[in-house]
Amino acid sequence: MTTIASNLQAVRAAIAAAGKDCGRAQHDITLLAVSKNFPAAAIRAAYHAGQHRYAENYLQEALDKMGELGDLPLEWHFIGPIQSNKTRAIAENFSWVHSVDRLKVAERLSAQRPAHLPPLQVCLQVNISGEASKSGVAAGQVEHLAKQIVTLPHLTLRGLMAVPAPSDDAATQHAAFAALRALRDQLQQQGLRLDTLSMGMSHDYRAAIAEGATMLRIGTAIFGARNYNI
Ligand SMILES: *Cc1c(COP(=O)(O)O)cnc(C)c1O
Repeated sequence: MTTIASNLQAVRAAIAAAGKDCGRAQHDITLLAVSKNFPAAAIRAAYHAGQHRYAENYLQEALDKMGELGDLPLEWHFIGPIQSNKTRAIAENFSWVHSVDRLKVAERLSAQRPAHLPPLQVCLQVNISGEASKSGVAAGQVEHLAKQIVTLPHLTLRGLMAVPAPSDDAATQHAAFAALRALRDQLQQQGLRLDTLSMGMSHDYRAAIAEGATMLRIGTAIFGARNYNI
């Protein structure tokens, strides 16, 4: 077995165990493999170990890999910062976008989504820890933005995404994820049908599962440490 295959097996087992601990059904928790900084060959290895959904942060890097992996039926999720001049290629090449945080970007993604494809599935990225440097819409602005985005014809708003400030403290991890879930519940009470909480990375996915995550974005635990100097 390759290292990637055995890592995947360990991550899947840990997700199943964490889900069982809090009484959650395993089919409610979807694993996205975050493949940024890893080559197409790493994705191919993960695919052969049963992983079909991938998340990428950088458009050009993702497009290059899609070109190399065109023979595989993969589902691609965009999770990085979105510049306005990149929306067309994102709308044309991805199934999901988790990092929508302003109306202008959402409008462009909707207008540029090709008619022959299903609506683009989107999450609003929320700056849940209130960090000045972080991307994401402020918690107080989520409802207003969500109500505008649900009117766009070629997008389906699925839920919320967050990258909390990194913490090794379990209580701090739980609090951030619980805050995102509370925000989602509030929107649901406003009549928005949101089924997705995209939260939890390699260091905090157990806490995210306990707080209701439906999509985990996990890179390091599957592919190993990223080398940014390649
Ligand atoms: C890189 C990244 C991840 C994966 O992080 P790991 O710690 O490697 O699991 C998840 N979400 C986003 C938005 C990322 O940029």
